[in-house]
Amino acid sequence: MTKFEALGLKQSLLNAISDLGFESPSEVQEKAIPILLESETDLVALAQTGTGKTAAFGFPLIQKIDSESRTTQGLILSPTRELCLQITNELTLYSKYEKGVNVVAIYGGASITDQARQIKRGAQIVVATPGRMKDMIGRGLVDISKIDYCILDEADEMLNMGFMEDIKDILSNTPKEKSTWLFSATMPREVSVIAKKFMHSPQEITVGTKNSGASTVQHEYYVVGGRDRYPALKRLADTNPDIFSVIFCRTKRDTQKVAEKLIEDGYNAGALHGDLSQNQRDLVMNSFRKKQIQMLVATDVAARGIDVDDITHVINYQLPDEIETYTHRSGRTGRAGKSGISMVIVTKSELRKIKAIENKIQQAFISKKIPTGMEICEIQLYHLANKIKDTKINEEVDNYLPAINDVLQGIDREELIKKIISVEFTRFFNYYNKTKDLSSSESGERGDRGRSRDDDSRTPADGNVRYFINVGEKDGYDWMTLKDFLRDTVNLGKDDVFKVDVKESFSFFNTDASATEAILKTFTEFKVDGRFVNVEVSKNPGGGGGGGGRGRRDRSRSGGGSYSRDNDRNKGRRRDRSDSKGGSSSSSGKRRTKRKSDSY
Ligand code: AMP
Repeated sequence: MTKFEALGLKQSLLNAISDLGFESPSEVQEKAIPILLESETDLVALAQTGTGKTAAFGFPLIQKIDSESRTTQGLILSPTRELCLQITNELTLYSKYEKGVNVVAIYGGASITDQARQIKRGAQIVVATPGRMKDMIGRGLVDISKIDYCILDEADEMLNMGFMEDIKDILSNTPKEKSTWLFSATMPREVSVIAKKFMHSPQEITVGTKNSGASTVQHEYYVVGGRDRYPALKRLADTNPDIFSVIFCRTKRDTQKVAEKLIEDGYNAGALHGDLSQNQRDLVMNSFRKKQIQMLVATDVAARGIDVDDITHVINYQLPDEIETYTHRSGRTGRAGKSGISMVIVTKSELRKIKAIENKIQQAFISKKIPTGMEICEIQLYHLANKIKDTKINEEVDNYLPAINDVLQGIDREELIKKIISVEFTRFFNYYNKTKDLSSSESGERGDRGRSRDDDSRTPADGNVRYFINVGEKDGYDWMTLKDFLRDTVNLGKDDVFKVDVKESFSFFNTDASATEAILKTFTEFKVDGRFVNVEVSKNPGGGGGGGGRGRRDRSRSGGGSYSRDNDRNKGRRRDRSDSKGGSSSSSGKRRTKRKSDSY
């Protein structure tokens, strides 16, 4: 395996890399860093967010600039304030052992005077959003006429947001003799135009497949009736008690509405859209980063640049108008080498959009059914049992034990367990008992194409068996690695294990009934690292459930469900609500250009 040492980086940067805990370079770093260090060249790099591209341009840039000069030598343009700050923070960490390197962030919504003052002190590297940058150039507050390096990060997103003219304007203030490094997840026509106009015979590198979604993301769709979007969303959340997700809506109004409903129903949710003030958006983003918000409901524009690594699920509450936007949405999960799930709630009439997206991302969707009430109850039951198992005993309880023993006298262990579990479980059960099946009966009917091996068309009647296994993400599994583990351990074929749903402490999977005997036999007295791994046949053989969660979650927090009104939840609810109200718009949504080529 290539090491950072082999890429030509100087020792002080290698020391910073070691402090960051990066062990080996990612693909984009391995490809880009030597090229950028060895020659003064233009570069076009096709790389998704989460591939480590900031370091791919950040390290060579820091190595190449003259830290003794105070002149601005490097300009990085990024689409959003969040990304701008993220890049600035990363570059500051990368340059921790470089004397005198100053990296300054320039973005809208903050004091322009403060930013100008920081620039005046001397900033070799300026990281900017296009709008504020143009403004500062116009007012003579920043001089980019002597830069040697210009980096366009997430170029496709910048152009998507309507920054084409601003970028052209900014670039016309830079010297002809400079290197331009363009990073983009996709290469739509507009990005090619910029590359042609402002770059000279750029070297090209591609990470993964061109124009494809990251392969660590599993794409799923759920067909529901038009009015069932919201209850379907709730079920997806309830099937994944440890969910940490971004939920995308098409309009600011829907975003606010869905977030408010979720909060009202007791979930840890928040809204992020352009009608909120910058301050409100910062509050919501901070809560999300701290995982106090589990479900962030956002518009596409507001969510640009959300750079949180542990997102387990992206949920498309509604599909976007443009396919390109879907790629950006799903790219919010499956970052930094982890797996993730992108779920789409669609109506039957929208199914052709799924097909169009599949063509674009070159990856098949898995057709799934919204879990039934009883499936959710089962998942919540196991979740609860595990929560009890993992609860740290509070020694203060000892003081009250004699009195508690008095109250519980005469109840045997089994009855006590049943009662404890019932305290919470009954709320779920009462809510979901007798609820209707939300999956549209036409679910998955897309002719004979596009069916993946995980397709829900395999029903119990086909001899499909669902299992419970007592390992989950806590044990280091995700839906891919658990599938591999089961296949290897039981010696099953490539397509024999499907509908793998990994929860925090346990998981579910399906196989054909013909494999049941082998599976149950293998997992009798089966130990991994000294611990028994049990497999049982689940009571709900249908198992249409949502995908496997992955993020490690704070156990102290409650999962949320409409049945619940406990104090903790209501506390969170009040906080979230105040975060998500009102405010005036500073959105760049109005500037967004319509790109016919990517419409369905
Ligand atoms: P980016 O694509 O630049 O947004 O990076 C995604 C995440 O991966 C960031 O949190 C980086 O800190 C992290 N990262 C970047 N390069 C590496 C590496 N070589 N090894 C491990 N993590 C990395």
